[in-house]
Amino acid sequence: MKYVSTRGRAPVLDFADVLLAGLAADGGLYVPESWPALPAGWQEPRPYAELAGDVLWPYVEGSTLPRPALDELVAQAYGTFDHPDVCPLVEIEPGLCVVELFHGPTLAFKDVALQLVGRLFDRELQRRGERRTIVVATSGDTGSAAIAACVGRPTLDVVVLHPAGRVSDVQRRQMTTVDARNVHNVAIEGTFDDCQDVLKALFADAGLRDRVGLSAMNSINWARVAAQIVYYVMAAAACGRCEVAVPTGNFGNVLAGWIARRAGAPIDGLVIGSNRNDILTRWVRTGALVSDEVVPTLSPSMDIQVSSNHERLLFELLGRDGAATAELMGRFRSLGSVEGPRDPVFAAASLDDAATLAVIADLHRRTGYLADPHTAVGIGAARLCRRRPDLPMVCLATAHPAKFPDAVERATGIRPALPAHLADLAERPERYDVLPADVAAVRAYIEGAVRR
Ligand SMILES: *Cc1c(COP(=O)(O)O)cnc(C)c1O
Repeated sequence: MKYVSTRGRAPVLDFADVLLAGLAADGGLYVPESWPALPAGWQEPRPYAELAGDVLWPYVEGSTLPRPALDELVAQAYGTFDHPDVCPLVEIEPGLCVVELFHGPTLAFKDVALQLVGRLFDRELQRRGERRTIVVATSGDTGSAAIAACVGRPTLDVVVLHPAGRVSDVQRRQMTTVDARNVHNVAIEGTFDDCQDVLKALFADAGLRDRVGLSAMNSINWARVAAQIVYYVMAAAACGRCEVAVPTGNFGNVLAGWIARRAGAPIDGLVIGSNRNDILTRWVRTGALVSDEVVPTLSPSMDIQVSSNHERLLFELLGRDGAATAELMGRFRSLGSVEGPRDPVFAAASLDDAATLAVIADLHRRTGYLADPHTAVGIGAARLCRRRPDLPMVCLATAHPAKFPDAVERATGIRPALPAHLADLAERPERYDVLPADVAAVRAYIEGAVRR
C-alpha cells in the first residue's frame, strides 16, 4: 500500500513513513492510494485483536512492518483494555446499541488508536535506531492518551502542554500523576489556543525539530484513523445493516466510519453529532464550510471549529484532485468560508448543553445507562436524524461517564465512580512545570528536559 497527499505535491510513501511523517510536506494529509475491501471472513465473531490485524493489514502491507509484528503490536495494544471484548457492544434499548470505546487506560476513545500508534512508533524507531520527541497540546483527553501511549518507551519522550487551570481535575491528574523519565507535563499560563500557537511555532523551528526529533501524534496521523476503522467493522459484523452515530470534533472518528463503509461494511448512514461548535453540521445541511468562534461546552473534546480530518473526505469528494483540494483549503483558510462538496451518506445535528443534559437524564431514566456528555451528543443526534427506524442504530460511546462526572451528576444526580485502576487518582502525587505562553521558554524547557 502506498500513500498520496491530499494536496498532490508530496512524495508517495509507505505506511511506516507516513506514520512518522504526520503532515505531508505540501501541507496535505496522507491517504491510501486506493481503498482496500474488507478482509475475507470479517463477519465472523472473533477476538477484537484478531479482527484488527486482518482489517489493518492491507493498509500496512509493503512497509517495514511484517504481518507477525503487526499482530503482536495489536495484541499488546488491546491487552491494555480492561474489558475482554476491548470495545464491547451494549444494547441499551431495542434497536439502540452503544459501542463502548472507553475501556482503555485513560477512559476515552483516543486510547483505541494511540495504544497502537505508540507501539508502532517505538518499533519503527528502534528499527531505524532513532528517537523522537512527541509534543502535543491538549484541552483534555489527547494529553493523557498520548502519555499512556509513550510512557516508558525507550525511543520516545513526550511533552504535553495543557492550559493551566483550564482542564478538569480528572483530566489533569491523569496526565500529571504519571511518574516516568520520558513524560514531561507543562501547564501553560494561557488558553488552549495559546498552547496550540506555541506548538505551531515549535514545529516551525527547523533547528529544534532536528535537535530533538520533534514529532506529532495528533489526530491527522493516518495510523490513528486506520486503527479506528476496526470498531466500525466489528459493530457491523455484530449488528448487520445499521446506521452509526458519532460525536465528532476533528472528523477523525466519523471518517474511519466512512472508510469502513467504503470497504464494504453495511453502514446505511453516518450521523454526525456536534455540540454548539457545529461547523460539520452546517456543512452537512448547507454545503457551506464556515468557521466560527469556538465556544466552551460540556463536551470539551469537540470544541473545535476547524475539523482537520475533513480534508481527507473533501479530497475524495473532489475526485481525488490534489490541486482542487489545495485550492479549496487555501480559500477556506484565507476567507473562513467556502462551498464544499457533500456526501449524502451523512446526516447531522447539533446539541447545546441543555439538550445534552436532557439526553443524559432521559437515557438514564428510561434505561439506567449513564452516558458521558460526548456520547450523549451522538445519541441525541441519532434520535433527531434517524432515517431507517427499521435498522439498528449504533452509537459510539467515546468517554467513560466518570471522566466528566460534573455533567453526569447535574443530569442524573449520580456521580459516576472511576474504575478500580484509577480509584486513588486524587491521592497520587502530581508532577508538572508551569511556563508562560512563550515559545522561547517552552523551547528551552524541551531542550533541557528530553533525553538524546
Ligand atoms: C477526541 C474526542 C472526540 C472527538 O473525536 P474526533 O476524532 O475529533 O472527531 C469525541 N469524544 C471524546 C470523548 C474525545 O476525546
